[in-house]
Amino acid sequence: MRGLVYHGKGDIRCEQVPDPTLETADGAIVRVVKTAICGSDLHLYHGDLPVPSGFTMGHEFVGEVTETGSGVSGFRTGDRVIVSGVIGCGACARCRAGQVIRCERHETRVFGMSPELHGGQAEAVAVPGADHAMTRIPDGVSDEQAVLLTDILPTGYYGARRAEIEPGDTVVVIGAGPVGIQALLCAQLFGPARIFQVDRVPERLALVEKLGAIPLHADQADEALVEATDGQGADTVIEAVGSDATIHKALVYARSGGTVSVVGVNTSPALPFPMGLALMKNLTFRTGLVPVQELWPNLVPLVASGRLTPEIVFNHHVGLSDGAEAYRRFNDREDGILKVLLDPLA
Ligand SMILES: [Zn+2]
Ligand SMILES: [Zn+2]
Repeated sequence: MRGLVYHGKGDIRCEQVPDPTLETADGAIVRVVKTAICGSDLHLYHGDLPVPSGFTMGHEFVGEVTETGSGVSGFRTGDRVIVSGVIGCGACARCRAGQVIRCERHETRVFGMSPELHGGQAEAVAVPGADHAMTRIPDGVSDEQAVLLTDILPTGYYGARRAEIEPGDTVVVIGAGPVGIQALLCAQLFGPARIFQVDRVPERLALVEKLGAIPLHADQADEALVEATDGQGADTVIEAVGSDATIHKALVYARSGGTVSVVGVNTSPALPFPMGLALMKNLTFRTGLVPVQELWPNLVPLVASGRLTPEIVFNHHVGLSDGAEAYRRFNDREDGILKVLLDPLA
């Protein structure tokens, strides 16, 4: 079969790879129907992660079960499934509760980030611990929507839920990329009066305005937010970028006693953190990786009913054979590419 293989910094190739095989009785083989490129895949593309090359990339994919191990009870051949981008051992109490990030056996893994677990930017994938890694795609949810349930919609929802938005609140979302847009859609579920969204890219600001946010260019956001809140700051801030500077801004934009919820990925071992500011404002600061499986019971029905339309982020559709070029263009943000959907059959 074909897959997008990581060959080191800036070098991704669509090439022939071995078909996946069932390695454990609790696993399943999934034929990929749709897969997406994520902002976190660009960390690999930039060579930021110290991993050996030679593995298939991708942690955002959905498909159809073609084979199950003897220990799989919840799925059978032919089922259309969403596969979580992140999995744990699947057997410990926390994994069974969907909190695979906090797996008690420390077996938390992300598909397609290292040779340990091949990813889904391919024609097929082996999914270990299938009963806990997957859920069925119900009627009313398209493959395109389902792909977003593997990672970025749950991430946006996690950020919004942990921001503790109350009806009537003023919210700031920093970042209007794919995750920031999911965070906006999810923040709206909690009934805030206003959501300001900060970014630097005009097309992204235009899109979030259409979706109901008040767009702010990053260069004007500080002043605009002071004015809009009478100098008090926002009740809650969701950070969806992950840079040192934007995390600092999140702390600045929050009011006294407010909440800052960071879902942007920042793995700095020594982030300069304004403790004095956080202390004097009595801020609540939250961050963490999304427990995808735990949030499916909330999110799958919201998508199925039409309350959430996460698929608006896809504005670039290409075949797997053009995947390497899609990475380059996504990285360079050519033509305003926001999110890439890959068709494994093309
Ligand atoms: Zn992702
Ligand atoms: Zn576990």
